[in-house]
Amino acid sequence: MVAKAKERRLTTENTEEVTSASVTSCPLWLIFQFMSYRTNHCGALRKADSGARVTLCGWVDSRRDHGGVVFIDLRDRNGITQVVFRPEEHSDAASAAHGLRGEDVIQISGVVTPRLAGTENPKLATGEIEVVADALAILNKADVLPFPLGEDSVSEDLRLEHRYLDLRRPEMVRNLTVRHKITKATRDYFDSQSFLEIETPVLSKSTPEGAREFLVPSRIFPGKFYALSQSPQQYKQLLMVGGVERYFQIAKCFRDEDPRADRITELTQIDVEVSFVTEEEIFSLIEGLLAQIFHLVRDAEVSCPFPRLTYQGAMNRYGTDKPDRRFGMELVALDDTFRESQFKVFRAALDSGGVVKAINAKGFANITTGQIENLTEIARQYGARGLAFIKVENGEWKSPIVKFFSDTEKKALASRLGIEEGDLILFGADQWEVVCSVLGRIRLRVAEILGLNKDSSALEFLWVMDFPLLTYSMEEQKWNAVHHPFTRPKGEDIHLLEAGEFGKVRAQAYDVVLNGVEIGGGSIRIHERDLQAKMFEVLGIPPDKQQILFPHLLKAFRFGSPPHGGIALGVDRLVMLAAGTDNIRDVVAFPKNNRGEDLMMNSPSSPEPRQLRELGLQITRKP
Ligand code: ASP
Repeated sequence: MVAKAKERRLTTENTEEVTSASVTSCPLWLIFQFMSYRTNHCGALRKADSGARVTLCGWVDSRRDHGGVVFIDLRDRNGITQVVFRPEEHSDAASAAHGLRGEDVIQISGVVTPRLAGTENPKLATGEIEVVADALAILNKADVLPFPLGEDSVSEDLRLEHRYLDLRRPEMVRNLTVRHKITKATRDYFDSQSFLEIETPVLSKSTPEGAREFLVPSRIFPGKFYALSQSPQQYKQLLMVGGVERYFQIAKCFRDEDPRADRITELTQIDVEVSFVTEEEIFSLIEGLLAQIFHLVRDAEVSCPFPRLTYQGAMNRYGTDKPDRRFGMELVALDDTFRESQFKVFRAALDSGGVVKAINAKGFANITTGQIENLTEIARQYGARGLAFIKVENGEWKSPIVKFFSDTEKKALASRLGIEEGDLILFGADQWEVVCSVLGRIRLRVAEILGLNKDSSALEFLWVMDFPLLTYSMEEQKWNAVHHPFTRPKGEDIHLLEAGEFGKVRAQAYDVVLNGVEIGGGSIRIHERDLQAKMFEVLGIPPDKQQILFPHLLKAFRFGSPPHGGIALGVDRLVMLAAGTDNIRDVVAFPKNNRGEDLMMNSPSSPEPRQLRELGLQITRKP
């Protein structure tokens, strides 16, 4: 039945009376296409609106039939409003409402009415009212959904295949809202600091910067390829040569790496570069941005400046370059304590230039055998031969190794680690890198078991600085850049670079860490041609190859390149932390799954033979 024009007009004019009910399953909106679809959003109405005549649009979240009276929870992006259809008052609308199914798209008109005392729903923002509907238009029917929207147990692949449905869930709306707020706050902040937002090419050139790149074949130049930009690094440096001085961009970056829970192949960065800048200035610039973001999205007061640790200090104390400082359990150095020890394992590690360290897992003496086995397995995975421990129970140190300790050693141990009844002490004795990374992982696992890392309201920001410039790859038998090839060595370490002591050179590189997650990293850059060429050479790129890979940069540096530096923050990780989710795909509208596939679009997909011909390509390896 097609409603009369007069009745529909009423839906946009709150004060007029309705004369009769209307219901339609035909596109009624055609008649009223020049008016608004709705007067209010589904999260807007309150008790104070009682008596108002409203029109709402949205999806049927649920339908309940109560002996002829039909209740609909009507949902849009802003919330849910309960709509009541009463057959005795508006029989046509009520009987059409009987046929509604979940996710049908409808438009209703009616009067805002306070709910009866005792039937209010405090969980809903609109829970004190309902709309008594007298008109219903079905804008589009929905088939039965492939999965129930509110169900937690639905597999992620099924959700990703139907992402357009998954996005209707309030959590997803919330995550996308947080993301929008963060990017908007970023733009406002940098604008207020006289930065220019500048787009750089996505189709770029393949250069060895760190990550594996996605290649894009060129049709016009058969056999040649672009690379999708893994970061705007070289462009932003060239913008500095171009005199831009203060650049930022919310940039898409593409890295052909295996996806993980907190890593994706197509990521978004807040990318920043500044000329005539010091590390200190970058730190306070980014602290200001993060304080503004977390104030806006979490109403949190972030205290600045952030604490700082050197890479060496972070590894020594936390066994990682991204320490979670929401809890202590620091690694304690015991080299002095065991230097003369009779315990062979510790003594041998020290005699061969290694270290002995331990952590005190307070109150964890009741660890189960299964948990100890799990920790030992982790220790082995990270290169240890085993995991020595002491449980402190009933005033006794229970451990097969204690009998080898002298009284002096025991005393020193107790005071260095603050050992008390109920504690569990876990040891590492090996080369420095192995001990740090093993105890760093064990520390995190113990924190996980004891629930010490659950507090997502804590905001433990931290700068980690003075990273090594270079690291030696046994596999490739060559030196690689720890950050990237454009990172500047610390002034006082340049002589070490010249002397070939590459492992000892520190970089002017820094990471910003939040609750144990690296949310950004950057560096002061090399801006001199000769130093850059030297760095390429150390990385195994000889002058002729430099001229093929980086002629633009080396040339640009000859024409007055200013000192500069910058940073990039991961938007996806930042949103994850701000929104309190631990799956990075939950903060991206259309993510690839954990195997890098887009299940909704079914990509990657096979090209048409014609496309391959045009590109001059042939597929030689099939899956
Ligand atoms: N381009 C670097 C990265 O993507 C960050 C930087 O150095 O600014 O990690």
